[in-house]
Amino acid sequence: MADRVHDVLVVGAGQAGLGTAWWLARKGVRDVVVVDAAEVGGSWLRRWESLQLFTPRRFSGLPGVPFPDGATPTPDRVEMADYLHGYARRLDVPVRSWTPVTRVTTHPVGFCAETREGPVLARQVVLATGPFTRPRVPAAAQELDPAVAQLHSADYCRPADLPAGPVLVVGGGNSAAQLAVELSATHEVTVLSPREPRFLPERVLGVSVYWWLLLSGVLNAGGDSWVARGIRRRGDAIIGRELRRLRGDGVIGWRTGRVVGADGDRVHLDDGRTEQVSAVLWCTGFLPETGWIDVPGALDADGQPVHDRGASPVAGLHWMGLPWQTRVNSSIIDGVDRDARRTARRIRRQARSETV
Ligand SMILES: Cc1cc2nc3c(=O)[nH]c(=O)nc-3n(C[C@H](O)[C@H](O)[C@H](O)COP(=O)(O)OP(=O)(O)OC[C@H]3O[C@@H](n4cnc5c(N)ncnc54)[C@H](O)[C@@H]3O)c2cc1C
Repeated sequence: MADRVHDVLVVGAGQAGLGTAWWLARKGVRDVVVVDAAEVGGSWLRRWESLQLFTPRRFSGLPGVPFPDGATPTPDRVEMADYLHGYARRLDVPVRSWTPVTRVTTHPVGFCAETREGPVLARQVVLATGPFTRPRVPAAAQELDPAVAQLHSADYCRPADLPAGPVLVVGGGNSAAQLAVELSATHEVTVLSPREPRFLPERVLGVSVYWWLLLSGVLNAGGDSWVARGIRRRGDAIIGRELRRLRGDGVIGWRTGRVVGADGDRVHLDDGRTEQVSAVLWCTGFLPETGWIDVPGALDADGQPVHDRGASPVAGLHWMGLPWQTRVNSSIIDGVDRDARRTARRIRRQARSETV
């Protein structure tokens, strides 16, 4: 494998990696290879069983291949995985599944990616390994008694994953909202949210709220615009009002606060209160997994990507699919097309400057 030097190695065959490969082919960058640690679309299959995307079908496709029509306005996670599978097959680019990159380093030709099948050499590398990969859990989780059942949303599949009885759902985003509603049919649910959320209806005047967010310019606002800064400060709005209704009806309990500590079967909140718990579902978000990236200058002191709109300060290294990479929608499927085209253009420019 190592004798050959590819023009571009794309690590990650999710929407961000596949969309970039599509644009690379269109821009005439010939020798591209995509590798993925698991099967194509696997990140969707690993999410909870009832997950329905919030993006309407029309906005759930990648460049060149519209998302197919279906019985529901938005696809479910299996449809999305199937779509990505089909997309990878149609790409004019080899995609190697079950090929985790365990380390990427610089190399005299550009970069070297270590895989089970040996090293892969490439002049340029696109890191498209997903922004929602490493579950983020408050340190206090480790101080809870082992008798308290704990799960992160990344590992939750269905309500039976949690023991019968009360569940504290920790988080203020869409995962917390959806899972609290789902669990409330079988469990006694209390949500602990760091803030009072804003709820958006799923449809306004019969049209998906996604359309209104698009038409109003919110989704395409720049990653460092005042709109994006406002969303970061206030947190994502919750799409759908089911949680608000169940909370109003007293079916779901509600606390506002942050977990700052724990001992035994109690979590301590930032306002001095404590909550007794027997099961906790952490919907506390994710960080990108970057421990395998061993390229000086690629990561900051916290191990997070250093980049300017996806361009690393390390020549030939590119990021795709990061939150706020260029715009508000950079880390959702609808944002892939424009960011992938931009990345492919940059790669072609750098390739040409090397050959001059
Ligand atoms: C619960 C949840 C619901 C969401 N719902 C929506 C929605 O409705 N609509 C929407 O547009 N967006 C949604 N998103 C956001 C986003 O679209 C998804 O997270 C999407 O999966 C991101 O695509 P990606 O290609 O950037 O990363 P991923 O889909 O995570 O793909 C990254 C790929 O990289 C591979 N990989 C990782 N590390 C390595 C390695 N070292 N070597 C080789 N391969 C590696 C993984 O196996 C994976 O296949 C949701 C996210 C979450 C968490």
